[in-house]
Amino acid sequence: MTIAIYPGSFDPVTKGHLNIIERASKIFDKLIVCVMVNGTKRPTFTSAERVDFLERVTSHLDNVQIDASPELLADYARRMGSSVIIKGLRAATDFENEFQMALINRKLNPGLDTMFLTAEHQYMFMSSSVIRELSRYDVDLSDFLPEQIIPDVREKNHLIDEGGK
Ligand code: ADP
Repeated sequence: MTIAIYPGSFDPVTKGHLNIIERASKIFDKLIVCVMVNGTKRPTFTSAERVDFLERVTSHLDNVQIDASPELLADYARRMGSSVIIKGLRAATDFENEFQMALINRKLNPGLDTMFLTAEHQYMFMSSSVIRELSRYDVDLSDFLPEQIIPDVREKNHLIDEGGK
């Protein structure tokens, strides 16, 4: 059984992420989408909230499992018995970082390969950070976020704008 891992911050999961999840789930026997800790980003949503969002928007995909881990990705993949990391590539700007990460992960775990899926053209410009910013305004988010999580994303931003969490 080929198990692939799709790691990321998913803060929150966007339609761009979901498109990669749906395509990768058709290629591999099992896809684990893992919310990872990224020391350079301060997340808006808790790890539990991000896992909950991912579970809700992937409930139609039988071979997709959602997880969260503070581990190094190379160690996590080894522990899960996976030899493939999936990454989505939006533009040349993603490429340089992802190429470096792929080489580092392979150095740390020589049994691990990184496969890139190109973003679908209508999702190329989407990032969680831009969508978080948009969600503070009265903008229709249905092109950007899966319907199931739009009310939660809006509510969180209202709480933040009001100074709470
Ligand atoms: P972001 O860069 O938006 O904070 P993540 O860290 O959650 O995203 O990204 C996880 C993975 O998903 C990365 O491989 C990233 O390149 C990819 N990705 C992010 N947004 C998109 C998109 N709109 N289309 C395709 N891949 C994407």
